[in-house]
Amino acid sequence: MSLVIHGIGELVTADPAAGDGPLGVLRDAAVVFDGGRVAWVGASGAAPAADEAVDARGRCLLPGFVDSHAHLVFAGDRADEFAARMTGRPYAAGGIRTTVEATRAASDDALRANLRRLVAEMARQGTTTVECKSGYGLTVEQERRCVRIAAEVTGEVTFLGAHVVPPEYDGDPGGYVRLVSGAMMAACAPYARWIDVFCERGAFDAAQARTVLAAGAAAGLVPRVHANQLGPGPGVRLAVEMGAASADHCTFLADADVDALASSPTVATLLPAVEFSTRQPYPDARRLLDAGAAVALATDCNPGSGYSSSMAFCVALAVREMGMSPAEAVLAATAGGARALRRGDVGRLSPGARADAQLLDAPSHIHLAYRPGVPLTAAVWKDGVRQV
Ligand SMILES: [Zn+2]
Repeated sequence: MSLVIHGIGELVTADPAAGDGPLGVLRDAAVVFDGGRVAWVGASGAAPAADEAVDARGRCLLPGFVDSHAHLVFAGDRADEFAARMTGRPYAAGGIRTTVEATRAASDDALRANLRRLVAEMARQGTTTVECKSGYGLTVEQERRCVRIAAEVTGEVTFLGAHVVPPEYDGDPGGYVRLVSGAMMAACAPYARWIDVFCERGAFDAAQARTVLAAGAAAGLVPRVHANQLGPGPGVRLAVEMGAASADHCTFLADADVDALASSPTVATLLPAVEFSTRQPYPDARRLLDAGAAVALATDCNPGSGYSSSMAFCVALAVREMGMSPAEAVLAATAGGARALRRGDVGRLSPGARADAQLLDAPSHIHLAYRPGVPLTAAVWKDGVRQV
């Protein structure tokens, strides 16, 4: 079944080779989807016929968002913790344990239902590719269960047994690192593509993180790192050293961290919905972009440090608070996320890409930042099939 979407006022291909500027924009354009892929883009008047047709009526079509960082397999929420924090209590990584307790107590079906609810919520907001981490089980069986359930909804599954040291290993973090790198890795690697570690004060230091990432790499997983979120630290440079696809957060960066990112293929993935929800300073996207680093935006959707599933919200924050232009932010939320997941088939709308797209109830991508909080998603296609 083929589909032509014509009358597109602004087609953001997110492929500079396919149109004007860094977003590869075409005006008065059309796109043809066939067999789940983008088959053609060009002038609306020149569009070939297809089995079905949609008139975009001058609105903006862009790639589905690629949310390259999310924690969606969990139970319960931490609304009370958020309310307390907003009245003056600082955020500490230990809050993760609250969710671990609730997750361990939940049935498979309860975890699955919550996960599917969140993925559907993301789709309604234009997100068509989602990465999903484990990290709220923290035993061999519980972590295996989390990656297995995550793999039901996405191929981008990340094993994050090294999220925080669980209570059973208080006083013995080395023992927990051995478990994560050994039995837990063996149980989880078959369901995962990525290995991640929370390299931070209160979580795992550089040596522990290196051990986990190396064990993951030996099991066939590709590293990504939670780095430099709560303060300066070794996470970003470790990510670069280990050939990670992405260093995520990048809130507190030394010049050497920026240089390391700029001279490596490791993407700096910025998660401003977390800074919004924790009242921490926002990462300096302008500094990274000016240095030549690749930048992605993602939600980090999780019940503790930031429970937004909205990529449009992240785009708006990046423009308002982090020195990004609307075009840079939209590119980071689409092609940037794809790069952070080492995917060439998503995050762009040029021939050969997956037919993952969103139609905005707006004439331009700028409206994503210009009209924050407004539900602009009018329609969403994934693999050429209408989702919303
Ligand atoms: Zn995270």
